Amino acid sequence: MSDALRQLQQTEKRYRDLYKRTPAMLHSIDRQGCILTVSDRWLETLGYTRDEVVNRPLVSFLSPHSRKLAEQTYLPEFFRTGRINDVPYQILTKDGRMLDVILSAVAERNENNEIVRSLAVLVDVTENKKAEQKIHQLAFYDTLTGLPNRSLFQQRLNRALVRAKRHDATIDVLFIDLDQFKGVNDTLGHGIGDELLQVIAKRLEKCLRAGDTLARLGGDEFVIFLTGVEDRQDSSLFAMRMLEEIARPVRLRDKELFTTASVGISVYPADGADADTLQRNADIAMYEAKARGRNTYQYFSSELNIQTTRRIEMEAGLRIEMEAGLRQALVQNQLFLAYQPQLDLQSGKIIGIEALVRWRHPQMGLMQPQDFIPIAEETGLIIPIGEFVLRTACAQAKAWQDQGLPTIRMAVNVSARQFKQHDFVDLVEEVLQQTGLMPHYLELELTESMVMEKVQDSIMTLTDLKIRGIHLAIDDFGTGHSSLVYLKHFPIDRLKIAQEFVRDIPTDPDNEAIVAAIIAMAQTLKLAVIAEGVEHREQLDFLHQRHCNEMQGYYFAKPLAPDEVANILLQRSTATAACLFHGDH
Ligand code: C2E
Ligand code: MG
Ligand code: MG
Repeated sequence: MSDALRQLQQTEKRYRDLYKRTPAMLHSIDRQGCILTVSDRWLETLGYTRDEVVNRPLVSFLSPHSRKLAEQTYLPEFFRTGRINDVPYQILTKDGRMLDVILSAVAERNENNEIVRSLAVLVDVTENKKAEQKIHQLAFYDTLTGLPNRSLFQQRLNRALVRAKRHDATIDVLFIDLDQFKGVNDTLGHGIGDELLQVIAKRLEKCLRAGDTLARLGGDEFVIFLTGVEDRQDSSLFAMRMLEEIARPVRLRDKELFTTASVGISVYPADGADADTLQRNADIAMYEAKARGRNTYQYFSSELNIQTTRRIEMEAGLRIEMEAGLRQALVQNQLFLAYQPQLDLQSGKIIGIEALVRWRHPQMGLMQPQDFIPIAEETGLIIPIGEFVLRTACAQAKAWQDQGLPTIRMAVNVSARQFKQHDFVDLVEEVLQQTGLMPHYLELELTESMVMEKVQDSIMTLTDLKIRGIHLAIDDFGTGHSSLVYLKHFPIDRLKIAQEFVRDIPTDPDNEAIVAAIIAMAQTLKLAVIAEGVEHREQLDFLHQRHCNEMQGYYFAKPLAPDEVANILLQRSTATAACLFHGDH
């Protein structure tokens, strides 16, 4: 058999495997719109046997309305462009129910670049919608005041900016910070502080006009953007009215409170073209207002900007230096890994280790990933760096095993750019082979946005990895506002609750609610769930009560050097499984 033929057969087999084993609903159709193949999940969900669907037109499984849409719009579009995304269809089950699905498809072409068939992914959106709504509420609104939070504000501002660009309009961003709010909290208690924030939120809301958005950023910080502002007088009047509203006395539990605020204003397009810059500049102006004696407003100005510009220039210079430095780092072995244990509370056992990259910079000393990973991503250096990390981590895991230490899973962070490489799966396989590590001792940590970007491609890559026995985790879960409906179609094993939600337990009820919802959802989807960034006993207790038993954080261990990890593993294998949670500390 020729090599080419063997390779083709292997590809075909791999493809068939993917089709059978994927937890997603997949099908493909030919040029006539007839079904060629479907995944087992497709058949199970809709209740048909393979014989009942193969060679039948896809449209015969659609509701009359969807059928019309398919014939008139989506099928022609697909065969013209070779791709459709997120098309809402209603599909009929064998027992006559109607399922709401979202369909995305990509084309496969022959040597002459003609479309021969489609590969489509269906996502059942009927279920899980409630969970999504709840998390949406938690993720986009502030529970104390009911106002939009930072994420929603940014989303709306970005949308408004697109519109303003098109219509040549301006947008004013106002950053509002209460004066001496901390004093209220400290002397009168959080309860009163919270009530005060609620009253202020209501008053600010009353000042809004259609098209304006008010949000609470957290603490005593609010932000507003105004559309359709005619001139500076217009926004000054608005700011003054707001300051007056805030300054009116507030009666709370027989107490009369007086509070004021400082307001900073930036204007699109003069003070920035994007949401981040506008907010940052409004923030800078707000500090100026505070410096000028509070209870006042201040526009952002270029003088205020000089300092900022200087900083940005410096950063740009640093960046170029960093890039050159990073290239050197790879060749001169300045990169190394730290390893942070992951613990199961129930058994007290270490269940995994996360590999975290570090850079020993010859002049600047030890650099943390957030200082260089973004630049590595931008410049593409993340590809060789990622490969180094994967190789080193797998080799280390194998070395520990060879020393007779308890076998544990090695978790490796994967960056978006790496994951998108067409030969990513091959690389992982090659590294496993070369290091001799068994696939089920490797866990890849991906982020929500990575897997959400091109859903159908992701599902295939994930399934491909999964079939090999590699574990998959979603890192920083909850920060990406992913479409939860997709989640259960991904062959993933574990959610890692983002550190930022864990951090404020037990002081922030919003974050507590988000964490609880994520744990509950993981349980529904039968996924393992691990909390990151656990630093205190209180956080541990909270998580334990909600049946989240896997933890990673400084409370147990910081990222460590290999021999420190080896020591811990050794201690734990000789001691009787000391269960941390039942200890008396
Ligand atoms: P991550 O994957 O979410 O990693 C967890 C981060 O939280 C690590 O920071 C870890 O040191 C830190 N951490 C763990 N426990 C605690 C705690 O109790 N409290 C606090 N405050 N922090 C804790 P690190 O090593 O600085 O990594 C930051 C991020 O950089 C990682 O977040 C990951 O996104 C990225 N990163 C690290 N190594 C790699 C890598 O090899 N490849 C890629 N692509 N990204 C990496
Ligand atoms: Mg991670
Ligand atoms: Mg994380």
